[in-house]
Amino acid sequence: MPATIGSEIERLIQLLSKLPGLSPRSARRAALALLKKRDTLLEPLSDAMREAARAIRPCETCGNLDTVTPCAICADPRRDSHVLCVVEDVADLWALERAGVFRGRYHVLGGALSALDGVTPEKLNVASLTDRVFSQEEGQGVDEVILAMNATVEGQTTAHYLMDLLSGVKVTRLAHGVPVGGELDYLDEGTLSAAFKARRSL
Ligand SMILES: [Zn+2]
Repeated sequence: MPATIGSEIERLIQLLSKLPGLSPRSARRAALALLKKRDTLLEPLSDAMREAARAIRPCETCGNLDTVTPCAICADPRRDSHVLCVVEDVADLWALERAGVFRGRYHVLGGALSALDGVTPEKLNVASLTDRVFSQEEGQGVDEVILAMNATVEGQTTAHYLMDLLSGVKVTRLAHGVPVGGELDYLDEGTLSAAFKARRSL
């Protein structure tokens, strides 16, 4: 950093550059845009971030992010509690909700298995998934688990692992339209919707 940039600005740039998709150059541009629009951008954003940090928590049931737990999806009686759609990340849940193809409940793993990055089943919300699926409580049984993992090596490894773990339950996976290496969050709604409807039994 040039010496002319104050340490507060430098800190802002450093923090912004940790965001996905922001290179150091983009982070500098974003910081400058924020500082130039103090009233309309910097202060409202800072308030929104403080409020988000205070109010938003992961749902204790499914791992979705919301201001209440259980989240609005888990608490919605119109959604089918007998069908669970397992996703890697909240972004994937949002993508499926945007596509509007699914009316059941979700389970957010919080990532995908990766030997390279040391992501083991214990680091994901796997135990809570089997608890939900094999729950013996009256009316709580799950009839179908839809594995909506990304079409990446990690996503598919995770799907295979979960298939073994959930044997005895109907497990389906997304089919056509998910390109190899593709992440659900990047698919358009039509493609995602087609993949969802064409899911196949395992
Ligand atoms: Zn939830």
